[in-house]
Amino acid sequence: MAYYENIESALIHGGISTDPATGAVNVPIYQTSTYQQQGLGENAGWEYSRTGNPTRAALEALIAELEGGAAGFAFASGMAAITAVLSLLKSGDEVIISSNVYGGTFRVLDKVFLPFGLKYKIVDTSDLAQVEEGIGTQTRAILIESPANPLLTVTDLAGVSAIARKHGILSIVDNTFMTPYLQRPLELGADIVLHSATKYLGGHSDLVAGLVVVKDEALAKRLAFLQNATGGVLGPFDSFLLIRGIKTLAVRMDRHVENAEKAARFLQAHPAVKHIYYPGLPNSEGYAINRRQARNGGAMISFELYENYDIRAFFKALRLIALAESLGGVESLVCHPATMTHASIPKEIRDQVGITEGLIRLSVGIENSDDLLADLEQAIAKGERK
Ligand SMILES: *Cc1c(COP(=O)(O)O)cnc(C)c1O
Repeated sequence: MAYYENIESALIHGGISTDPATGAVNVPIYQTSTYQQQGLGENAGWEYSRTGNPTRAALEALIAELEGGAAGFAFASGMAAITAVLSLLKSGDEVIISSNVYGGTFRVLDKVFLPFGLKYKIVDTSDLAQVEEGIGTQTRAILIESPANPLLTVTDLAGVSAIARKHGILSIVDNTFMTPYLQRPLELGADIVLHSATKYLGGHSDLVAGLVVVKDEALAKRLAFLQNATGGVLGPFDSFLLIRGIKTLAVRMDRHVENAEKAARFLQAHPAVKHIYYPGLPNSEGYAINRRQARNGGAMISFELYENYDIRAFFKALRLIALAESLGGVESLVCHPATMTHASIPKEIRDQVGITEGLIRLSVGIENSDDLLADLEQAIAKGERK
């Protein structure tokens, strides 16, 4: 029974948010692998912590409520979540993926699932005609990100979901970059939404976790089976940390986005910047569609400097913004997709989709925006080749 209507309240009170046994306002960390049974076949609903753990269950109920689905599942990482979801498919099936997806998603498909006979096809999903054309007789699922990693390409989630439904195939959305606070794919028609909760949901760069929410009960049963059978579950302590992180998601995201919008305007106006990718800029390619399906453009920005700038010198000169993999933490991070997050994608494919050597990806944190812009300014200046 919920006494609220808005997501800001659900983030704090959603799912199982208190401890019924003691009234504690936080769910305890049930650091246990097993549960004593009253007799054969008699138990309090918990048998073994791979199958179910009360702290994890609280997190799973919370994310299901936030995404508006039938059930949630917590995994040890985003990749464990993606692996469990892909395990819904079988040898001979084909999955369509967006032309820029997280490097690890490409890698697990290319190096792990392909040898088992699960095929993949890369399609520019920002063009619905290409999605329709890409669907073959063996296609069973479409896995998309919007905005996608790292070029922030926007895909029409309602459009792709409708095409998928028409063909009787699963639509799966990696919502890591947006979170349910900014975008809710299930409401747009998707079957499955997943997250690397390592990023904005955790929000503090102090845990690795993955979450999945499915729309209907039948899929929930299959995924619950796969989660237990393959076993990549999230532990109780990390489940607790993630619940704690999610409570402040709304206030963090508001500041992340406010800072990102300032940084995008700054970079767009800067003479050193050759190209900027940010769906929150009204003149960006995906702006209108993103506006329709999401609250705003999020807080990830990618950009390229002109050739007379040395990006190695730029990275070295940054003082406040850290050079690191990952994103979505309170601290601003910058990365070089070609050699870091997307290094597992072959160069030909990287070049084809526009992940160039000069591309810089910025995860805008919640520091003071003047400090962030000053750091970018001085690092760009130091990057100029004299
Ligand atoms: C980081 C990331 C993943 C992988 O998640 P891990 O928690 O690192 O396993 C998947 N998708 C996107 C979009 C990501 O950014």
